[in-house]
Amino acid sequence: MNSASSDRSFFGHPRGLSTLFFTEMWERFSFYGLRPLLVLFMTAALMDGGFGFERGQASAIVGIYAACVYLASLPGGWIADRIIGLRRAILYGAVLISLGHISVGFSSFLGNKVPFFLGLVLIVLGTGLLKPNISAIVGDLYPEGGARRDAGFSVFYMGINIGAFFGQLVTGLLGESVGWHFGFGAAGVGMLLGLTIFITRAPKTLGTLGLEPARHPDPVVHARQQQRGKLGIAIGLGLLALVIILSATGMVTLNPQGIAANMTYILVGTAVAYFLYLFLLGGLTTDEKKRVGVIFVLFVFAAIFWSAFEQAPTSLNLFARDFTDRMVGGFEVPATWFQSVNSFFVILLAPVFAIMWISLGKRGKDPSSPIKFAFGLFFAGLGFLMMIVAANEVVASGGTARVSPWWLVGSYFFQTVGELALSPVGLSSMTKLAPRKFAGQMMGVWFLASAVGNLIGGRVGGHVDPEKLEQMPILFSRTSWSLLIAAAVCALLSVPIKRMMRESSAAKH
Ligand code: GLN
Repeated sequence: MNSASSDRSFFGHPRGLSTLFFTEMWERFSFYGLRPLLVLFMTAALMDGGFGFERGQASAIVGIYAACVYLASLPGGWIADRIIGLRRAILYGAVLISLGHISVGFSSFLGNKVPFFLGLVLIVLGTGLLKPNISAIVGDLYPEGGARRDAGFSVFYMGINIGAFFGQLVTGLLGESVGWHFGFGAAGVGMLLGLTIFITRAPKTLGTLGLEPARHPDPVVHARQQQRGKLGIAIGLGLLALVIILSATGMVTLNPQGIAANMTYILVGTAVAYFLYLFLLGGLTTDEKKRVGVIFVLFVFAAIFWSAFEQAPTSLNLFARDFTDRMVGGFEVPATWFQSVNSFFVILLAPVFAIMWISLGKRGKDPSSPIKFAFGLFFAGLGFLMMIVAANEVVASGGTARVSPWWLVGSYFFQTVGELALSPVGLSSMTKLAPRKFAGQMMGVWFLASAVGNLIGGRVGGHVDPEKLEQMPILFSRTSWSLLIAAAVCALLSVPIKRMMRESSAAKH
């Protein structure tokens, strides 16, 4: 089916990976370039060109936005699988994201809130179409699976973080130091470059991969499924348009903190309902049920991990801006540059992790995925322990101290070690454990854990506030203890999970 599998022209990988690598690199450049600017822009005073929003509100909006970006992966994956195919989903997604950035950029220029929020909605819809499907095509490049697919995902993860690294540096500098719309504009230019790469390179490098949606063998059933799918999309878009019109005209006032609070239930409810559906009505064999059980456990721990980790654009971003000494010589390092520290460490450490897993594997000591997850949670917990110390230093000074930047850098280092033990491992575990017919949707489930994390990270972001100093150490200590306790529970659960998987055919998860 795929002649690309023997192709080794991109660092030993099929050349199709280079197309996906650079498209996703620019998509993440735009996503991560915009995200930390959002909270700074919305909380900046009106006279500084911002919206003058209160922190809790701005942070909740970022949480809802990022949660929706990842939540949209579920319908995005489904639409690609059933209706338009992966390739067109990626293409339409990239177009929508580019339009979204243009709209956001114009809003800061015009000082109008409507194109700003409309732009965010377009980015949500576009990313839902692009992100899960570009990840799924990576898996498709390696029909033989195995270690080469894992390695392909590692290379792809580097692309993600190269984009994130430069996105945050460039848009942060332009947005904070030159003007908001320059930062937003740079993010948009990045996505347009990604779109151009995909349009020009995909036909030459991806062959027929992802051109067609999955077909039901019976053409009548297939046509009916397509029709129902299109109707569902039309209803969804209609409801969305209604909400946009009602809120843009001021007929309905949306309360971000209230929505964020209820959205947690919606996300958790969606996950529980989806897993119940799979177990009860998914027609799974006993073996597949065991694997989905493991996916459920990994999902829960991933959601806990991302809830801490995704405080980077909210509470840790505000901590960088308000309480961190950012002067180097006479230059004030923009707060958003701290967002790049994580990506920098990923680029540096990803090869170390790859070598470590391979050498442990050769000696038959490659840890199981729950053990790797436990390590991930533990190291992220250490990262937040450092933030407790830093926060206490700020509180002791009555909020006047600007603490050493090394607290944040150290914290990001440990969080990144945690991320590398959990995130790429999670992606490849999904492709290995997923029952065949649910492969795409399982990638959506994986990103649902990120949706939960982004939402919680957004909801707690307002706790970093010079007016309410005492909340800060409490937030960081709750975060660390949750991570450390979760690490212990995950490590304990790894024993029965391993036993269960040994009995199943998926022993090498
Ligand atoms: N940094 C990774 C990415 O952007 C993972 C993010 C996540 O899943 N929360 O793809």
